[in-house]
Amino acid sequence: MPLYEYRCENCGTFDKMQKVSEPALETCPRCSGKVEKLIGRNVGVQFKGPGFYRTDNSLVKDRVRSLNKERQKDNECILDGDVKNYAAQAESTTKKVIEA
Ligand SMILES: [Zn+2]
Repeated sequence: MPLYEYRCENCGTFDKMQKVSEPALETCPRCSGKVEKLIGRNVGVQFKGPGFYRTDNSLVKDRVRSLNKERQKDNECILDGDVKNYAAQAESTTKKVIEA
């Protein structure tokens, strides 16, 4: 499942893991304030701002951690100047992200 980023008018940004078929949140799960969906950012593969760390969904954290490990492999290939390997590694990581 992909992670979506929302911004609550009271609590700021937070991430929510949702099925693609699920409708977007309209109210904040914490304060019931109005939220807007931040478009075009799949945050599942990046460390990011305080919004992520405020969530206490350990499943999401584990998922992000394992995906970051994959991305680390990508980066190691780049550091080695191994572009061909990098392309293959990045492709397999992307597949994992899509399947998530
Ligand atoms: Zn809120």
